[in-house]
Amino acid sequence: MNKNKRSSSQPASLAITLLIALIGSACSPGTPPESDTAEAARTGDRITADIIVSGDYVVTMDAAGTVLENASVVITEGLIIAIGANDEINAKYSARTLLVGKHRVVMPGLINGHSHAAMTLLRGVADDLALMDWLTNYIFPAEIEFVDADFVRIGTELACWEMIRGGTTTFVDMYYYPDIIAEVVESCGMRALVSATVIDQRSPDAEDAADSIDKGLKFIDRWKNRSDRITPIFGPHAIYTLNAEQLAATRAAANDAGVAISIHMSESPFELQYSKDTFGTTSIDFFESIGFLDGPTIGAHVVWPTEKEISILAERNVGVIHNPTSNMKLASGIAPVTAMLAAGIRIGLGTDSAASNNDLDMWEEMRLASFLQKVEQMDPQVLSAKTVLNMATRGGAEAIGLGETIGGLQVGMKADVIQVSLDDVHHIPTFDVVSHLVYVTDEQDVLSVIVAGKLLMHDRKMLTIDTVRVAQEARDLGARIQSALARRNQ
Ligand SMILES: [Zn+2]
Repeated sequence: MNKNKRSSSQPASLAITLLIALIGSACSPGTPPESDTAEAARTGDRITADIIVSGDYVVTMDAAGTVLENASVVITEGLIIAIGANDEINAKYSARTLLVGKHRVVMPGLINGHSHAAMTLLRGVADDLALMDWLTNYIFPAEIEFVDADFVRIGTELACWEMIRGGTTTFVDMYYYPDIIAEVVESCGMRALVSATVIDQRSPDAEDAADSIDKGLKFIDRWKNRSDRITPIFGPHAIYTLNAEQLAATRAAANDAGVAISIHMSESPFELQYSKDTFGTTSIDFFESIGFLDGPTIGAHVVWPTEKEISILAERNVGVIHNPTSNMKLASGIAPVTAMLAAGIRIGLGTDSAASNNDLDMWEEMRLASFLQKVEQMDPQVLSAKTVLNMATRGGAEAIGLGETIGGLQVGMKADVIQVSLDDVHHIPTFDVVSHLVYVTDEQDVLSVIVAGKLLMHDRKMLTIDTVRVAQEARDLGARIQSALARRNQ
């Protein structure tokens, strides 16, 4: 229940509001909250919208970086239809659902540009290892043994729960069983680019590269234009798990199907060396030489680009996703984010998987992205709070090719909106809201999450995921994985 709601001082009205809020708090997943309907009923000649969400600050993330004070965002049929000062909005609009209260920030939902959502179930299975040791000796074998459709369903739902709780509204996923991922995204209400993974080894859902391309095309066919919130794409894994012909074939298939590609790119010193040994040059240079960047591309990591490769990325309009936590944990290196931004490259942020992070907290990614560049360059002025907030929202949307429709609060954009509370002690006092969002806020400060105009979390209550069921399923599966690992290690 929203204690700080702008409620009437009349006792009868308050009683009705409380009663409705109590009924609302008992609603089952999928039932829209009905609190605030008492206020919404007093419409008069105002236009009735679906949701009005208000805050002390509305951080629009528009091109000018406008922050409105005491303002509201009006949402109808999945779109933002108005933004303005509370008085103006209240004079013109009423809504079925009001998200109001003091000490609130309204901003665009966060965009996690690189994830392997279902790997929440492998969180903590193997830590403190280098990328290739971790991948080939722990993760790939564990995936062959444990990953099936059920694993992906439970792990993805667990990830969506964690992401919604933390204010993430869109993610770009790369994992196996993409149909299952898309189904989970569909049911939990988030927005996602779901990759069909292409890898030239036996994986949980394919035999080799050709098989995964074939299955990927069928997946894309099934999901293209099926849901406004789900974009199927191709996810060739990396330069070291595919050969030149397979990479080129994936690009050709993606272009034929009219979809983008997401790929791990220039991630680690291992990849750099592998590419030089195998292809005679570094990975991005090689990608360019075979025409692999000839189409919409999202490059995850990009830690080790040469100067020439930074120019190639800018020229080819490749969207780059920076994953500071994963890069730090696997000691992959420090991406030259400042240089890439200066070259005009569109850069977003990502968590990578919960097995290399080990959480899906985009607030932490923002903070670490900023701090990592500052210490790497020994310059506290680089990657300001404003710059990284942009990378987590508008810049991220641009990097994944959705800059026209999400990532900002502007009339006509899709209503992917979150409301953050400044009630916690770590926000008192707040002098600069952008500073607080980047350097202070954590997942628990997120109050409500809206995607495509639909509430997925309301006053921290999850509406589209049965958290009790998912938690139980994840615990059960975790116990099975643990006993299998124990048997293997005997
Ligand atoms: Zn990854």
